[in-house]
Amino acid sequence: MPAARPEVRAFVALGANLGDAAGTVQRALQTLGDTPGLRLVKASSLYRTAPVDATGPDFINAVAEVATTLTAPDLLDALQAIETAEGRERPYRNAPRTLDLDVLLYGDARIDSPRLTVPHPRMHERAFVLVPLAEVAPARVDDGAALAVRQQPIERI
Ligand code: AMP
Repeated sequence: MPAARPEVRAFVALGANLGDAAGTVQRALQTLGDTPGLRLVKASSLYRTAPVDATGPDFINAVAEVATTLTAPDLLDALQAIETAEGRERPYRNAPRTLDLDVLLYGDARIDSPRLTVPHPRMHERAFVLVPLAEVAPARVDDGAALAVRQQPIERI
């Protein structure tokens, strides 16, 4: 039998801005925890933010810390399956979405493949990522980046 893969700590950003966005994010957190090869270690509070580079109603955002034996591409597959199950459509780039799930960090890995860039290239520019990430894993947030986004409005709900 092949040796079990070691668990890796990964961080996943969740965002939704259509329909019952808070309900969608809560359900996605639950589904993440129910995904084989994945354990939900900690979930941040939910936050409300105005859309950045996107249109439509306010977003509900959160960050989940997970422990996973999935490879990074398999983790992305699992996240995309959850998005699809929530009925996400992609009519155009940055369209309002039922649910958006991103891999922020996968252990200390640096990945640059056609499908996956980790750490997520835009995470340090976004309060809606850094504020919930700081809640679950303050050591993973750079002080300078946190300062740089402090003007972006974000409300813990
Ligand atoms: P979006 O529509 O903004 O969610 O972008 C999804 C696309 O980004 C997918 O096709 C992924 O392959 C790609 N992608 C690249 N890096 C990441 C990442 N760290 N997390 C999630 N998706 C990623």
